[in-house]
Amino acid sequence: MKLGLDVHIHGPVDRAAFVSFEGVQRTFARWFGFSRVRMTASSVTLDLSGDSRAQNASFGTFFSGGVDSFYTALENSTADTLILVQGFDIDLSDGRLWEETVVSSRRVAEKLDRRLIEVKTNVRDLAEWCSLDWGRVYHGAAIAFVAHMISGLHTVAIAGSYQESVRQAWGTHPELDSYWSTSALRFIHDGADVSRPQKVARISSDSVAMNTLRVCYQNPNGSYNCGQCEKCIRTVVNLAVVGALGRCATLPSELDYAEVSALNLARGGRIFAQENIAEMLRSRRIDIRLSQALGWALVRSYVRAVARRTPFVNP
Ligand SMILES: [Zn+2]
Repeated sequence: MKLGLDVHIHGPVDRAAFVSFEGVQRTFARWFGFSRVRMTASSVTLDLSGDSRAQNASFGTFFSGGVDSFYTALENSTADTLILVQGFDIDLSDGRLWEETVVSSRRVAEKLDRRLIEVKTNVRDLAEWCSLDWGRVYHGAAIAFVAHMISGLHTVAIAGSYQESVRQAWGTHPELDSYWSTSALRFIHDGADVSRPQKVARISSDSVAMNTLRVCYQNPNGSYNCGQCEKCIRTVVNLAVVGALGRCATLPSELDYAEVSALNLARGGRIFAQENIAEMLRSRRIDIRLSQALGWALVRSYVRAVARRTPFVNP
């Protein structure tokens, strides 16, 4: 769609997949202005469900060890499989971080009594080749691709990044994820009914989550959580807001208010800052210094965003 090229598949294609893909096309055309393309195949079959109909077919959730995927794993007690991927947020060249994440994920799988499937993929290279934004556009398609490559799954829950009330076009989304389904495999979007602080409150009562949580996307020198990037600081803020500061063994046990007020927030970060303030007001557990720090970060980030759109101002 990004390149505007029609697609022909040499082989049989599941009819449900053809119908679903129209939903992906409609959504991406509306959100991103992508071109609608024509899909054809050698033959279209009514049902390619195969081994997903077997009695021992599995219900899987993708698992990175972060807040969203932990919440989805804990909330979906009938899910019996965790899927861990190298090549999404962990670079294929980062062997040290991958090994550390595998060790902690195996521990999580054992404690939650789930099977762990470990996947390595270079599918993200395609996003870079086509100049597709990983978070905003592509990562949901990559998740769907990996799930379809795994035999014996009947359902996959995709952990959402945003609450449904947040109107954010994003690669995983309640309006989008089910469109990756076929007659063999059903996708559901999970966790859109709760905010990130509410997810953190849920996982903060789980000891395995608090001993293994992995949220960092910068990972300097292969670190598990750097404790200093926006994502790490955001999660420490979440823990403080829900009264669980110091409970997570893999993140700093104290809040640095100066670091919070110095955060340079993109749109996603501004949503999370607002959610934390809203949660403090809702729970009536208000930390004035934290509210001020989040307020300063929000004001400065808005000013920078406006300045970027204004001619002759160098933000
Ligand atoms: Zn970090």
